[in-house]
Amino acid sequence: MAEPLSVADVRAAVESLEQLRAVLSEPRVTLVYLDEACFPDDAFADGFRKIHAAGKQAGLRLRRVERSTDGGLSSGDLLRKIWEAPEPYRPDTLLIRSMDEVEIVREFIENLSQREMPKPEIVYDYTVYGYNLEAVKMLLDLGAERLTAPIELNAHELRALRRSREVLRVPGTGKAPSYELVVYGHLPMMVSANCIRKTSAGCDHANRILKLRDRMQKDMPVRCYCKYCYNQIFNAEPMVLYDLGSRLPLLPKDSIRSDFSVEGSAEVHRILAGYLPEKLTRAHFTHGVD
Ligand SMILES: [Zn+2]
Repeated sequence: MAEPLSVADVRAAVESLEQLRAVLSEPRVTLVYLDEACFPDDAFADGFRKIHAAGKQAGLRLRRVERSTDGGLSSGDLLRKIWEAPEPYRPDTLLIRSMDEVEIVREFIENLSQREMPKPEIVYDYTVYGYNLEAVKMLLDLGAERLTAPIELNAHELRALRRSREVLRVPGTGKAPSYELVVYGHLPMMVSANCIRKTSAGCDHANRILKLRDRMQKDMPVRCYCKYCYNQIFNAEPMVLYDLGSRLPLLPKDSIRSDFSVEGSAEVHRILAGYLPEKLTRAHFTHGVD
C-alpha cells in the first residue's frame, strides 16, 4: 500500500454513476471530472450539483472525438446549456482532449468574458500533445492554464519539462502553468471513430465495455462510447504511479489524477486508498530510469 502523496489537489475522472458514487465518498478527492461521452446531456447539472454538495470541485472532461454526425448536443451547445443554470450546476474546470475542442472552448470562454461571467479553469489532457517547450508555449497561447503531463515522457524528461516550465508563463496571468499528472488509469492504445455495432445489428447508443484478447492472451478492455459512437481500446494493465512518492515530478500547485474507465466501486476505493492492483504497468515513466 502506497503512502499518500504530498500534493493536495487529488482529482478523479469517472465514466459511470457507480464510480461517481465511489469517489464522492472519498475525502481525499478534491475534484471530480464527469466524462461527456458517458452521461446523458441532461444528467450533468445534477452531477455537478452532487459533486459540489460533497464539498468537491466539479469538472467536465470533453469527448475525445467530436464529429458533426454526433448525436445529441455538440460540445459547444452542451456548454452553453450547462451555463444557463446557476453556479452549483456548472463545472469549475474543463478538461480538453482534442484540438477540435480547443476552438469550441475558446469561443465559449470568449463569450463568457464578454458577458463578464467567471470562466472555468482550462486543463489540457495528455492527448493534446505538450511534449516539448515549443508545444507547451503553443498550448498556453491557446488558453491552457493547467497541462496534463505527457504520458510518453519518462521521469527525467518530465523533470526537464518542469524546469523549462518555470520560464513559461500563462498569458495574461504571469503565472507558471500547473501540471496534472495521471497516477492511475488504463491508458488508451487506440481510439477508433467507428462504431463496432453499427456494422452488425445497428447501434442502440448505449455505452458498454467489451474485451479483446491479444496474442499474449491478455484481455484488453474495449470501451464503446456509443453516445457518440467512438471506441477506445485500453491497455490490459493499468498504469500506476501513485506509489512512487518523491520520484514523481510534482510541485505544490500541481494536481494528480486517476482516470477511471472499467473499474467497479470496490476497485475505485482500493486504488484511492493506495493499494496496488495485482498487475500494473509504469508505461514510459520509468523507462531508462532506475
Ligand atoms: Zn455506436
